[in-house]
Amino acid sequence: AGRPAGFAFSAGLAVLIIACPCALGLATPAALVVACGRGARLGIFIKGCEALEASRSIDTVVLDKTGTVTTGRMTLREITTVADVDEQQVLGLAAAVERASEHPVAAAITAAAGDAEPAGLADGFRALPGLGARGVVDGVEVIVGRERLLRDQGLEIPPELGARRAAWEEAGCTVVLVGWDGRARGAIAMADTVRPSAPGAVAELRRLGLRPVLLTGDSPATAQAVAAAAGIDEVVAEVQPAGKAAYITGLRDAGHRVAMVGDGVNDGPALAAATLGLAVGSGTDVAITAADLILLRDDLGIVPDAIRLARATFTTIRRNLGWAFCYNLAAIPLAAAGLLNPLIAAAMMTLSSTFVVGNSLRLRRFRAGAGAVVESDG
Ligand code: ADP
Ligand code: MG
Repeated sequence: AGRPAGFAFSAGLAVLIIACPCALGLATPAALVVACGRGARLGIFIKGCEALEASRSIDTVVLDKTGTVTTGRMTLREITTVADVDEQQVLGLAAAVERASEHPVAAAITAAAGDAEPAGLADGFRALPGLGARGVVDGVEVIVGRERLLRDQGLEIPPELGARRAAWEEAGCTVVLVGWDGRARGAIAMADTVRPSAPGAVAELRRLGLRPVLLTGDSPATAQAVAAAAGIDEVVAEVQPAGKAAYITGLRDAGHRVAMVGDGVNDGPALAAATLGLAVGSGTDVAITAADLILLRDDLGIVPDAIRLARATFTTIRRNLGWAFCYNLAAIPLAAAGLLNPLIAAAMMTLSSTFVVGNSLRLRRFRAGAGAVVESDG
């Protein structure tokens, strides 16, 4: 534009320096690296960037019952049997089947049976996810599981067992029936404890504007008792493992953005179907593989923490990008007009990158629990 070549060269250089997209390039990775480090210290393992993006718009949090809202360490409470068999026999046969299973119900039964006879494993063990398990002990097929499973397998349910089951479930116990030779012959009640951190975590989720839902394969009465203890009012019970994923998909089709928190083998498909999947770290490999965030602290309060950290990280990324973009937008015309000395342009570029890194580092101050999200611009 009629200026000397030296001036044009200088302006061109300033434009190149300003336009060098250092801050833009750093905006996302710098925030992610800091968030991952901070998360790791809090016991939150972030598997990918999509998890952060997804966390922004979550409105519903679906929590699995056994092993997530409860500790998943069940203990045997009571056994009842029909007239012609005794408790040890029921427990022994149930344990023979359950020794091959990794379900919390199975762990409670095998622990209580100790070395009751028969001591070995059943033949032809089969787990029926969300329902129970079966196996052949001394030539007799034994079925352990929900009343519905035994009924579906054509076993007769003596009315006294059905009545005890209902009463125990009202009290919040998980109940399985044990049957062989065409009849249910015993019922076993197990109690699981609601995590002490559950009510606080649920309240915190509500405070974040999220709707908590309890999802379980257990019976409605048991689920209601646990939900009441945790402060959840929406309960979806008696859901088969495939149904868990279908329920999540249904919510998403209805326009909700859903986070699913689970631990079990049967939660894998649901974690994958959710907008954001959170696996409780003590859970199974299947759950951990399918999730976006892995929670390594044995305390349910980590769920709202993880969602807040993901949101804070996403906000930081957006601010970084916004800053870098505005800076380029304002400075490039100045440089092109020859109003910026290349030396000043270089200093500005460094400042801009420093700002992005500094803003990202503020995520290190992210604190668990107290609701202390990084809020102000710095
Ligand atoms: P949750 O959804 O609460 O994690 P599951 O879907 O794993 O529960 O199981 C639902 C119900 O199915 C249990 O409460 C139990 O009654 C029955 N069940 C599942 N697996 C077994 C098993 N191995 N032995 C006996 N009962 C089982
Ligand atoms: Mg579970």
